[in-house]
Amino acid sequence: MKSVIVVGAGIWGASLALRLAETGWRVTLVEQHQPGHVRQASAGETRLLRCSHGADDWYARLAWQARDDWRRLEERSGEVLYHEAGMLWFAGTSDGWENASARVLKNLDIPCEVLDPADGARFFPEFRGDDLSFLLWEPHAGVLRARRATQVTARLAVEAGARLVRARALPVPGEPYQSAVAIDGEVLRADRVVWACGAWLPALFDTALFGTPLTVTKQDTLHFAAPPAWTTPGVPAWVDYGASAYGHGDVDGVGMKATSDAEGRPYEPEHGERTVDQASVDQARAYLGRRFPSLASAPLLFTQVCQYALTPDAEWIIAEVAPGVWLLGGDSGHGFKHAPALAAYVAGVLGGEHAPEPRFGLHERLPSRGLRTSGEVW
Ligand SMILES: Cc1cc2nc3c(=O)[nH]c(=O)nc-3n(C[C@H](O)[C@H](O)[C@H](O)COP(=O)(O)OP(=O)(O)OC[C@H]3O[C@@H](n4cnc5c(N)ncnc54)[C@H](O)[C@@H]3O)c2cc1C
Repeated sequence: MKSVIVVGAGIWGASLALRLAETGWRVTLVEQHQPGHVRQASAGETRLLRCSHGADDWYARLAWQARDDWRRLEERSGEVLYHEAGMLWFAGTSDGWENASARVLKNLDIPCEVLDPADGARFFPEFRGDDLSFLLWEPHAGVLRARRATQVTARLAVEAGARLVRARALPVPGEPYQSAVAIDGEVLRADRVVWACGAWLPALFDTALFGTPLTVTKQDTLHFAAPPAWTTPGVPAWVDYGASAYGHGDVDGVGMKATSDAEGRPYEPEHGERTVDQASVDQARAYLGRRFPSLASAPLLFTQVCQYALTPDAEWIIAEVAPGVWLLGGDSGHGFKHAPALAAYVAGVLGGEHAPEPRFGLHERLPSRGLRTSGEVW
């Protein structure tokens, strides 16, 4: 029986542990806190699932596959983890990122529809789209209950036979690139070690040495107390690529999410203060005021501080740094939705069935913003 140590029980590590445990691996999953803890990127109340990724079809396909995987996970766990509320992209130009996305989705037979900005009134209680060129509607996109999904995935991994160890794992002193981890001075060995440590990865391995720097940024998430008409699934999720703004209707009574995807300031995930900046609140209100005017004065109901672990080109890291030692990280703020499908892909890599795509390697990467939003704010 092949053995693996997965370090980190965020959604990436937990999903991988589950996949490997149910396909015959002996799995040890090491987590310094507990699955779903407040510092995790995966512990956000909600995360969006969408297939649009501009001109890139690899992530579009993976997201579409992941949607089925999330449904299966719901059936297994008996929990509702995914609200298929649909998603509207607000396209400022006729031939930009959203247009490229629409072309890819159509080629892949992933349902989508190009709509007139005036159609926004059909989806939202109030909508101003006079600055827009068109809307791109993804009916099968939606909102994942992220923190809960992370806890459920970790629990299923344990039920499938993974051993969950609560400890801080470190590379073995003097020999960081061994297929082993050090826990409280004791060394654990396995055929493979996967460091799925999210924003903690740069403190463990200097990926910049290989040409791929990892930057950790503070991201403020805001939910506003909107009237009942703004409840998901009646109200879809939405993304304004040009303005780097996104959100969704109220899920579970925690308010309507309206927040920025623009990169925040450098951040330390373990000890960084988790209070949102007033500037983030002002920015979100300014956006709401333009798009959904009456919500500009809605009370702030719920906030979270999270972190992105960004590569320069927003492509992930799936890289073997020494025989049997893998880094899985650099999610770049868009990895939650893909997790179950990504786990199957990485399991294939670990099992030697296929090599990872070259794009995920540790090499010099050119700055590029094609996979999330423009980074511009207005
Ligand atoms: C504000 C925000 C909004 C986002 N929105 C979306 C979205 O809408 N859609 C989407 O798909 N994605 C989104 N993302 C990205 C998504 O949340 C991440 O891609 C995903 O959660 C990354 O999971 P992870 O498992 O890699 O990291 P994490 O969830 O951070 O987990 C890493 C884990 O490793 C553990 N760990 C680290 N070091 C050690 C160690 N030495 N020993 C033991 N344990 C260790 C940590 O404690 C942690 O639990 C968003 C992210 C943020 C911050």
